Amino acid sequence: MQHPENDKAYKGLAVNSGVSSQPTVNPYRQLRRRRQLSVNDYVEGILKGDVSVLGRAVTLVESTAEAHQSVAQEVIEKCLPHSGHSRRIGITGVPGAGKSTSIDVFGLHVLRQGHKLAVLAIDPSSERTHGSILGDKTRMEKLSVQPDAFIRPSPSAGSLGGVARKTRETIVLCEAAGYDRIFVETVGVGQSETAVHSMVDFFLLIQLAGTGDELQGIKRGIMEMADGIAINKCDGDNVDRAKLAAAQFRNALHLFPPTPSKWRPEVVTYSGYYEYDIDKVWDMIDRYFEYVERTGYFERKRQEQEKYWMIETINEQLRSKFYNTPEVAALLEQKELRVLNNEQSSFTAAKDVLDFYFERLRAEAGRCD
Ligand code: GDP
Repeated sequence: MQHPENDKAYKGLAVNSGVSSQPTVNPYRQLRRRRQLSVNDYVEGILKGDVSVLGRAVTLVESTAEAHQSVAQEVIEKCLPHSGHSRRIGITGVPGAGKSTSIDVFGLHVLRQGHKLAVLAIDPSSERTHGSILGDKTRMEKLSVQPDAFIRPSPSAGSLGGVARKTRETIVLCEAAGYDRIFVETVGVGQSETAVHSMVDFFLLIQLAGTGDELQGIKRGIMEMADGIAINKCDGDNVDRAKLAAAQFRNALHLFPPTPSKWRPEVVTYSGYYEYDIDKVWDMIDRYFEYVERTGYFERKRQEQEKYWMIETINEQLRSKFYNTPEVAALLEQKELRVLNNEQSSFTAAKDVLDFYFERLRAEAGRCD
């Protein structure tokens, strides 16, 4: 192309001819299909501590596809004998309490002690917010670059029970892969605490001081579940208020009935951001584990939790099978109308639907004979 600038008489900058524009898609990139793994591949990979295989196995656990679930259940079954050797710690607190900041530094603390750490989350609301807010790697900047830390956001699909079960199953896989410290994070505003409580050994409540009502937004039930309360942001002008809040919490805890373990929940202050007194939090947690291991409560609680999860799983599967039967759904709709129009009582309507379902099951069983 002719440019006046390329004229010999022209003294300014010249324009070179340049190269034709590059294709926008790299032609050398081959679409790589990931090899499907067998159950044994998964199990071997997990037991070797292969993070990518572990990640894929967790994806299977989270999947709702039936084919994925059947592989996932086999993998879990085979990993079970290698699981259990960890300390499972639940961490809760209202949004803004400093959970991610704290988990980042707590995590580094346990890694420095030579442990491998998995950070999981239960956040049943994540479906509504399109993508999980908890456990997000970007929120734990220091931890996410550590090779011995495995961070996984909350499974997003489904009911609280379903989400919790998946997290619980992920714990089994992580333990089999050698992670001996497990953090399970949850937002301290709803029912997910009960679910987390039923899968951890120690339950830590992160609290803030200086917002007036010291029991801010935290339901009494959550306080009762806590094995330890850690008042965060004990730094700068906030130190006195944090200490005062700690005293108030200690007083409040005195009024609570004794915990099943007879452990007296402790209250400590720290600063996650400035990393003050992190070891104070951790000493409390260590003391708890020494106590429950000595008294045998550790084992008892784990057994109780196994039972709880068996029943939960049965309930969940029954419920989903029942409600996912199209004929049941259709009948339910009819019955709802009748109940709303006062043509039938809710109890007899429920009985009719259940009778219909059980009759259907019997007929199905008859056909199989
Ligand atoms: P989360 O919602 O519970 O996960 O809370 P974040 O960890 O995201 O923290 C919420 C805000 O509190 C952020 O702006 C943090 O920088 C700040 N924060 C967290 N920990 C501390 C702390 O120990 N001291 C102070 N002053 N600020 C903190």
